[in-house]
Amino acid sequence: MAFFGNGGNCSSGSEGEEDEDEGMEGYRKGGYHAARPGDRFAGGRFVAQRKLGWGNFSTVWLAYDTHLNRFVALKIQKSARDYAQAALHEIELLSAIAKGDPTNSKNVLQLLDNFKHAGPNGQHVCIVTEFLGDSLLRLIRYNRNKGIGLSRVKEICRSVLVGLDYLHREIGIIHTDLKPENVLLVSTINPSKDPVRSGLTPILERTVSNQYSGSVISFSEKMLKMRARRAVAKISRRRVSLGGVAAEMEKERNLDGISLKCKIVDFGNACWGSQQLAGEIQTRQYRAPEVIIGSGYSYSADMWSFACMTFELATGEVLFAPKTCQGCSEDEDHLALMMETLGKMPKKIASSGTRSKEYFDRHGDLKRIRRLKFWPLELVLVQRYNFTEPEAHGFADFLRPILDFTPENRPTAADCLKHPWLN
Ligand code: ADP
Ligand code: MG
Repeated sequence: MAFFGNGGNCSSGSEGEEDEDEGMEGYRKGGYHAARPGDRFAGGRFVAQRKLGWGNFSTVWLAYDTHLNRFVALKIQKSARDYAQAALHEIELLSAIAKGDPTNSKNVLQLLDNFKHAGPNGQHVCIVTEFLGDSLLRLIRYNRNKGIGLSRVKEICRSVLVGLDYLHREIGIIHTDLKPENVLLVSTINPSKDPVRSGLTPILERTVSNQYSGSVISFSEKMLKMRARRAVAKISRRRVSLGGVAAEMEKERNLDGISLKCKIVDFGNACWGSQQLAGEIQTRQYRAPEVIIGSGYSYSADMWSFACMTFELATGEVLFAPKTCQGCSEDEDHLALMMETLGKMPKKIASSGTRSKEYFDRHGDLKRIRRLKFWPLELVLVQRYNFTEPEAHGFADFLRPILDFTPENRPTAADCLKHPWLN
């Protein structure tokens, strides 16, 4: 995706959001392909079942492979040239990933096939992969943004680190867009959404009843869901004691029995470690400091995103949520937030980027945000998220080294796998 020039290769951060869909706007020449259940692809081999998700580049469908009689995921890319090129790049990377992992044991999405599909909006590159479950973002939201408990976080960390170690050390790929949307559980949270576990009979033909049901849920279902959510949000903002349905919806959900094995997906922005460019990468909240100041990046930028994601799993809230403020940019606010949690950035690092002079004075202090309110990570965990001291200590001991401002000092995925917190 380096084809999009400066900034273009950064995801919006809103992709795949649960009660937002991709909108109709993207369905035009050069954009998404409007698929319907029962539509056939690749000379009839794959049959669309229902839409699983979407991103800025594609919609992803559950499809049935009539040759091998199994369910797969079908990513249908937008058709404009840049998107097509990005998909071909993604196929190149996914092929290398699959070739190096013939037993499919490295916790990275497995490529099965690819082809082109001509539709009213143009030619769409399609990528067939194994079918996976819900994203970690859905898992976080499923538990009402309360954090999923440290033992579950550890289990997910181990899965993701195996994947990252494989990508970094064996294949030489930097993912560049690691975040909760781009890590999928192997199984669905709700067993009835899993076509195999629920014994779903595949749709093999388009019928009148499935003609326009492109969405996962119907419009009226969606409205009901949205209303219920708003009601709960209103009530919890008012902090009144809850009763009835609202209390039921506020309660933490039981996560027992949900398999936490997961895999890294979405290589639309990934690059070879040997070929990386200095451009802007990563979704805002997961962006490493070296990317913001423009001092080049490597595998260690993925480690930064990994740490941000891990914090979010444990607390239900993003670690850094920068905003534009009066007289300062989102980038400056982001750097300020990092320093408030992690301490001052070493002067040598602060001055090492092509954009350093925009943000820092010659003493290595931020030019426009003068007063930082330091609140170290370990204290944040205790004071804001009610971790016990030993919990906060152990977790911070794992996270802090990964959030080192000096990229070379960060532990690798292999190093992290050996950390006592995980073992
Ligand atoms: P984009 O490059 O457009 O962001 P992604 O590869 O991230 O596309 O896929 C978009 C969404 O589709 C994901 O966030 C996820 O919800 C869903 N998805 C993608 N691949 C799969 C899969 N193999 N199995 C199940 N759902 C998937
Ligand atoms: Mg994505």
